[in-house]
Amino acid sequence: MTRQTIAIDIDDVLADNARGFIDFSNKMWGTNLDPSDYEEHWARMWQVDYDEVRRRADIFHESGVVREYTHADEALPVLHRLSGDYNLRIVTARRLQIRQDTLDWVHTHYPGIFTDEVIHFAGIWDQIDDHSIHKTKLEVIDAIDADFLIDDQLKHCLAMADAGRQALLFGDYAWNRMDDEPIDTIRRVDSWAAVEEYFYGK
Ligand SMILES: [Mg+2]
Repeated sequence: MTRQTIAIDIDDVLADNARGFIDFSNKMWGTNLDPSDYEEHWARMWQVDYDEVRRRADIFHESGVVREYTHADEALPVLHRLSGDYNLRIVTARRLQIRQDTLDWVHTHYPGIFTDEVIHFAGIWDQIDDHSIHKTKLEVIDAIDADFLIDDQLKHCLAMADAGRQALLFGDYAWNRMDDEPIDTIRRVDSWAAVEEYFYGK
């Protein structure tokens, strides 16, 4: 039987991005944000224009802070189990600018699970402008023919569901509340234990 493919996001699924990002922002730019204030729409979160977003994004990414991100301890055993039955891939919206930092981080925290060849960069933020926020990972998802996506961003899950693929909306975060849930085609999973239960039952 052909193995199915699971695409997995990094930030706020495998890595504690919101906390690391907000800590950096508060220190570097004197913002007074809480991790629950995090959103992918940085211009709105910071209340600045796109020139300033691009300037800050370069500072953030050049800082290497993503190398220091903490991570979800409970993910590793679930990934080990899933890797026995499914093809696992990573699909991240991170910029290519931090590709090497990202690969190193993944290998350090999730050793033996993902080779470089299965870590995909969707290119959404490589050129930051007011269209970036509307882009999804679907092009990469189609290219790798992923059956499932585990992601904390609702827009990627909606795109996945629209394409007839299965989406798992990960985490109970301020930025991914659904007003009119449940959407049949999207399953909310609050934790890696819930991911395991989704694929294997209780
Ligand atoms: Mg994410």
